[in-house]
Amino acid sequence: MSLLEIDSLVKEFGGLVATDDVSVSIEEDERVSLIGPNGAGKSTLINLITRRLDPTSGDIRFKGESILGLDAHEVVQNGISKSFQTASIFPEMTVEENAQIAAFAAEHGSFRLNFLRRRGAYPEVEARTRDTLDAVGLLGQADTEAQALPYGDKRRLEIGIALASEPDMLLMDEPTAGMSPEETQATVDLIEEVKRELGLTFLLVEHDMEIVFSISDRIIVLNRGQVIAEGTPDEIRGHPDVQEAYLGG
Ligand code: ADP
Ligand code: MG
Repeated sequence: MSLLEIDSLVKEFGGLVATDDVSVSIEEDERVSLIGPNGAGKSTLINLITRRLDPTSGDIRFKGESILGLDAHEVVQNGISKSFQTASIFPEMTVEENAQIAAFAAEHGSFRLNFLRRRGAYPEVEARTRDTLDAVGLLGQADTEAQALPYGDKRRLEIGIALASEPDMLLMDEPTAGMSPEETQATVDLIEEVKRELGLTFLLVEHDMEIVFSISDRIIVLNRGQVIAEGTPDEIRGHPDVQEAYLGG
């Protein structure tokens, strides 16, 4: 059994087929990248997996069970977490509070701000928070307001927030978009670190092919909502259909 099984998945927006009969699987501990030209349906697929979107037809199974009956929050509790959503940060709260909220929500399945005022009442949440901040290198900035962090550190906090729920699978949609070369490198280093130290399964959407080829065990290529190729970086590099899709053929 694969960790994630996507089975004949279709998503239509009006007359537009954004996801066109997609069937792919991701194994435990596998690092998979999803590539394809603009509008190929990459974000749609990610949003279907996180239950932000309802499919038109098909199924998504995680650990062998359909997740289509779950809401977005329950999916996170089941072990699928998406990182790099700036919206997931509370700008006026500290780095520590942001990580605590994520850890608390993961542990207790609900979101209650007043727990922040009851220090010591939730030792497991505090332990998880410290581990998380340590993992993303932000322990030293625990008391900094999130909005005061430099851009690159904000993205690290976003990974931290995603990791605080102790996911089995991490989804990332264009994590380096809008980053400077230095911030991009720092983010790639962090993803490498997450891969090495946590051994996390991930599904990464990334347009920078150098990053994709260096970081992935397997690459899935989408074009016009369909999977047009799948394989190792070496297999994908020379694939004629991939070249054609990227050249706009
Ligand atoms: P990618 O992330 O690969 O660039 P998307 O998944 O964002 O592509 O989009 C795939 C297609 O679906 C595009 O044609 C896009 O315009 C369309 N689309 C995406 N989201 C919506 C939506 N909420 N409503 C209507 N069309 C959408
Ligand atoms: Mg996208």
